[in-house]
Amino acid sequence: MRRVFILAGLLAVLSHSEPAAAQGGRGGRGTPIKAGESCPPGTTEIRPRSCMAPELPPPSILDYRPRSTLVTSAHMVKTAKYPAIDFHGHPQGLLGTPEGLASMGASLDSLNVRMMISADNMSGERLQRTVASIRASEKMKDRVRVLAGIDFRNVGPGWAEKAVAQLEADVAAGAVGVGEIGKGLGLSTRKPDGSRLKIDDPELDPIWDACARLKLPVFIHTADPQEFFQPIDYTNERWLELALFGERRYPQDRYPSFETLMTERDNLFRRHPKTTFVAAHMGWHANDLPRLAKMLTEMPNLYTEVGAVLYDIGRQPRAAHDFFIKFQDRILFGKDSFQPEEYPYYWRVFETANDYFDYYRNYHAFWKLYGIDLPDAVLKKVYYQNALKLTPGIPRTGWPR
Ligand SMILES: [Zn+2]
Repeated sequence: MRRVFILAGLLAVLSHSEPAAAQGGRGGRGTPIKAGESCPPGTTEIRPRSCMAPELPPPSILDYRPRSTLVTSAHMVKTAKYPAIDFHGHPQGLLGTPEGLASMGASLDSLNVRMMISADNMSGERLQRTVASIRASEKMKDRVRVLAGIDFRNVGPGWAEKAVAQLEADVAAGAVGVGEIGKGLGLSTRKPDGSRLKIDDPELDPIWDACARLKLPVFIHTADPQEFFQPIDYTNERWLELALFGERRYPQDRYPSFETLMTERDNLFRRHPKTTFVAAHMGWHANDLPRLAKMLTEMPNLYTEVGAVLYDIGRQPRAAHDFFIKFQDRILFGKDSFQPEEYPYYWRVFETANDYFDYYRNYHAFWKLYGIDLPDAVLKKVYYQNALKLTPGIPRTGWPR
């Protein structure tokens, strides 16, 4: 009797450890799971509630690069249909020398980017030197403008007066806005007593009021994609990026949460209705357009910018199209890191109705992009008219009507 049980148990073990190859294609032979359960690691669901391992060793996610066999119309767009203002420029070293400016100008010409706004947080002597270099360039003097940086170190008594005076000096030297206020504000910047400087700290209020008085848009980057604040497990859609770049992880024991930072940011926007804010990277809500729509509806002083979130715009072409139509007066073009070969991906998403094409950075997105096919009037607003409207310091002449 006992021996029979042992034999039955052994058979059951054998049938489960039978090589996957022998199970292939024969329905019902996989490892069963209960409704709502996930397949065990190394297997995939082949029939409802039945999981199986592939009979060949699977590639890692780095090595799996399927070639699409989709036959569909493809329109590469090398040059923007209308002249663009890159509101989120980081040309770094290129502005300081005639050669750097000339090389940037040649790249911008080939893309039809007419104006570069440098969001490199310049101030004081560095800003003056950069503006002098731009003004000395016959070709580029009307094609580059700079934003001023705010120094958030040592916020305490006397800080605001000094910061406002510096900002006024930077505007006199040629700054046309403020930014890019970096994610350090909120994530890491400390006050002299060691406490975290909150984005909505009232000690900062005079600087935001000064921006309203001086008619300076405030370009602000808060936090990072929400997945950077989540556990790095195999459900995290930014797993590869987080595994590649350790400094992008914000574990909860060392950093404020995504929602804490968003709450402080929204308090700031609400508390200063006369100040124009431009939330960089679509506020990191390009994956949650209903949330961004609610913010734009509730806060008339808020604008947003599309840099480095093309993967979220292009994966939802119908919702993104409708969003851009609805908020066409509130969205600015910006690219972030200056890589001339990457701009055409933006033109293609905005201007075409192409299906299923590659993004420029695989580690950002495990999916393809689709064009959102914006009408000409909306392209003009996103590419240059909205930036002109909020930034009196950008030269007004020469733009198409
Ligand atoms: Zn930036």
